[in-house]
Amino acid sequence: MEWEKDQFVCQKCGECCRWSGHVLLTDTDISRLAAAANLSETEFIEKYTVLAANRSQLSLADQDDGSCILLDDGLCRFYESRPAQCREFPFSWRVTEGCPGLDALKMNSSASDGGLTSGVV
Ligand code: SF4
Repeated sequence: MEWEKDQFVCQKCGECCRWSGHVLLTDTDISRLAAAANLSETEFIEKYTVLAANRSQLSLADQDDGSCILLDDGLCRFYESRPAQCREFPFSWRVTEGCPGLDALKMNSSASDGGLTSGVV
C-alpha cells in the first residue's frame, strides 16, 4: 500500500525549517506571507527574501546558522501562511527520514499493512 499523503499530519517540530536548501517563493506565497506579517509585499521582500540562485525568483533568506529566516521559537512564525514548497515537505523534497510526521505516517502504514512497499512520491 502506498503512503497516503492526505493522511500526513505535520507535527510542527520545525525540523524542515532547518533543512538545507532554498525555499523558492511564488507570487501567491509572497502575498500570503506579507499579509500574515502585516507588511506590504515590498516590505516583506526587503525584510525576508533574497534573490534565488536561479536569478529569476525570490527565496526566503537564511539565518546565520542556515535555518530559515522565518524560524522563530521552534516553528515558522507564519506557519498557517507558509509557502507552498514548505507545505509539500517532506514529499516534494524527496525526504525519506528526519520528519516526525513522515515517521508517524510510515508507522501507521506499517501497522495497518504489515509493512511498507513504496516510498514517497
Ligand atoms: S513537515 Fe515534518 S519536519 Fe516539518 S514541521 Fe512538520 S513534522 Fe516537522
